[in-house]
Amino acid sequence: MNAEAPQRLRLQLPRVLLDPEQADLPCGDADGLLPVQLEIAAGRIAAISPLSESRDLPLALTPPVDAHVHLDKAFSWSGHPNREGSLNAALAANLQEGERRSVSEVLQRGERGLDQAWRYGLRALRSHVDSGGAAAEPSWEALLELRQRWRDRLDLQLVALVPVAHWSSAAGRQLARRVAAAGGLLGGVLGPPYRHSRADRAALAALLQLADELGCGVDLHIDESGEAPALGLRLLLEQLERRPCSVPITCSHASSMGLLPAAPQRRLAERLAQQRLAVVALPTTNFWLLGRRGERDLPQRPLAPLRQLQRAGVPVAVGGDNVQDPWDPGGDGDPLELLRFTYRACHCPPWQRQGVIPFTTVPAQLLGLAWDGIVRRGAPADLLITSASSWSELLARPPQRRVLRAGRWLPPPPTQQPSAALASLGVFATP
Ligand SMILES: [Zn+2]
Repeated sequence: MNAEAPQRLRLQLPRVLLDPEQADLPCGDADGLLPVQLEIAAGRIAAISPLSESRDLPLALTPPVDAHVHLDKAFSWSGHPNREGSLNAALAANLQEGERRSVSEVLQRGERGLDQAWRYGLRALRSHVDSGGAAAEPSWEALLELRQRWRDRLDLQLVALVPVAHWSSAAGRQLARRVAAAGGLLGGVLGPPYRHSRADRAALAALLQLADELGCGVDLHIDESGEAPALGLRLLLEQLERRPCSVPITCSHASSMGLLPAAPQRRLAERLAQQRLAVVALPTTNFWLLGRRGERDLPQRPLAPLRQLQRAGVPVAVGGDNVQDPWDPGGDGDPLELLRFTYRACHCPPWQRQGVIPFTTVPAQLLGLAWDGIVRRGAPADLLITSASSWSELLARPPQRRVLRAGRWLPPPPTQQPSAALASLGVFATP
């Protein structure tokens, strides 16, 4: 904490992140923004008053939440690259790395990932954890340790990631009991190549029943593919329409649904809404890995149809997914970079309500966090404040930022620290 705690801040905030109940706060401007003065006391918002002039005021958000990351494999690209860039090659490199994974490696990667996430301004993450084969033990041991180490700064939720069929085995049921005892979620991969559909149905039914019995949420990697559009979602809906499940279910990816024609896509979105399913769209990894067809790539990347899902009433969060691992050589877990990518990829600009909530209030709701991410009197004085004073400026170039948590400034993120590579040239002053 390297600066004095502010008592008063003048900012622009998206109106959707400001108290809808406070009667003296007007609507936002055409960009959905409202200039406000915030009074801060004892780490909380003491008062919010509207300002008449917004010029040059910094644009701020409440701290984002990332509902889909993979901390156990983050930063593993350099040792296990996938230069071919296909999904199958990513899985092969991932499995090879998993065979040799150690507790200390995952502790180191996870610590780096969480420290970056915190400095970037995130307040909570849900990480999927490789939970089959040799990778399972070291990954869980390290991430449970990290969850404890970081509990006062970041909420960390853990999801066991295995093939869906694993939950039908004795080993799967034992894993589920351990995950439930640790407060985790049951996950799995459901996508092409589909096995005989009867086997897929039975595996899904077993997972849903197990989750119901244990009271564990479910978060599936579903239809991360350009093949068999939305077949996984249809299998899931069939099960739920026959036998409801009482635990919250999240569908991560849902990429091939984006390839359906408009009418069946709309009907499917309505069925998802009826079953209270949530979707986490993962545009960065989908853009890099999917849509490859040898010489003839798909003209369109398979990607969850974010706006159509929102129109049907499905809660949609946007997640960062991979950080410098075999699934994506880039990515840094920065929620502002994700927002800057997503407005183009998903046609959801941040001046619309639907372009802000997938990074803030919707993932907060998916993770069941105590604070919904709305600035109101008594809420935590937690903000991600940028150097941009308009959305266009924020989208034009990566902004600088300061992160306020419980009314105190956090240290700056990695992007604002001196670069060792440039310092090596000797022409840049080192601090
Ligand atoms: Zn994932």
